[in-house]
Amino acid sequence: MEMEFPECPICLDIYGSEESHIKAPKFLDCGDSLCKECLTKIINKIDSEMIECPRCRKEIKKKSNIDDYTTIKDIMRLINSSFNKKGSNEEII
Ligand SMILES: [Zn+2]
Ligand SMILES: [Zn+2]
Repeated sequence: MEMEFPECPICLDIYGSEESHIKAPKFLDCGDSLCKECLTKIINKIDSEMIECPRCRKEIKKKSNIDDYTTIKDIMRLINSSFNKKGSNEEII
């Protein structure tokens, strides 16, 4: 089986694993992702309320801060919390 490494659809670089890394993946509201560097460029370049997803061309409301975008860590936290839902309301971080 072939392993597919996720890459940014704009710069085609493979995502970095660390959140502080410039190539760390950021997720848009449509569920698609691109690297922090490219998303930052888009945010800075486009002066409207909406940005277009480079993957699915959906119009997405622009967030003013790059850190407001969902990261891989947020996704992992969501997955963990849905896995650990069985009767306990302990929060998993
Ligand atoms: Zn990129
Ligand atoms: Zn999309």
